[in-house]
Amino acid sequence: MKTLRNIDKGCALLKHIVRQGHWPAWEPTTRIIVDSYHYINHQVTDHLCQAWCNPAPLNGDAPNLVVVVNDKQGNPYYKRAFNTQACEQLNAWIGGFLTVLNQMTVSNFNLTMHVLLFIHTQRVIAKQEEKKRKQEAGIEVVGSDEESEDEEDSESDEEGSEEEEN
Ligand SMILES: [Zn+2]
Repeated sequence: MKTLRNIDKGCALLKHIVRQGHWPAWEPTTRIIVDSYHYINHQVTDHLCQAWCNPAPLNGDAPNLVVVVNDKQGNPYYKRAFNTQACEQLNAWIGGFLTVLNQMTVSNFNLTMHVLLFIHTQRVIAKQEEKKRKQEAGIEVVGSDEESEDEEDSESDEEGSEEEEN
C-alpha cells in the first residue's frame, strides 16, 4: 500500500524528484496527487500531472481514492473519496495563524494545533448537522454538494491557491 501525498503543486514536486533521479527510491511507497481543482486546471496542459497526479483515477490503480455512492434517485456513481478542497481550505485557515505559530515553543505549538483542529472539527460537524436538519425538514440547502462544506472558511484563499499555475 502506497502512502498518498496530496500536495498543492504535487506535479511540480514529482517532476523535480524525477529530474533529480530520486523517483525509483520514492515510487514503491509513495503516490503524489494534486488537489481536484488543480487537476481540472492542469490535466489538459500537463501530461505528467494528468497521468500520475489524478486525485480520483477511475482505472482502478488507486481504489482508495474513489468510492461508489448513490445519488438521490438511487443510481450509483463514482465520487472522490477524499475532499482535497477541504484539505486546501483547512491549510489556508491554519495559515492565518502562521505568524503566531512561528513564535511558539514546540509544546505550545502542538497544543495550539490540537486546539485549532478540535475547533475546526467541531465547526464542520455543526455545519453537517445543520445541513442534515434542514434536509430532514425539507428545506432546500443551497450548495448542498458535500465538497463545499468548508467553503465559507476561505473564500479568498481559493482564489489564491492556483495563481502560480501555468
Ligand atoms: Zn499539475
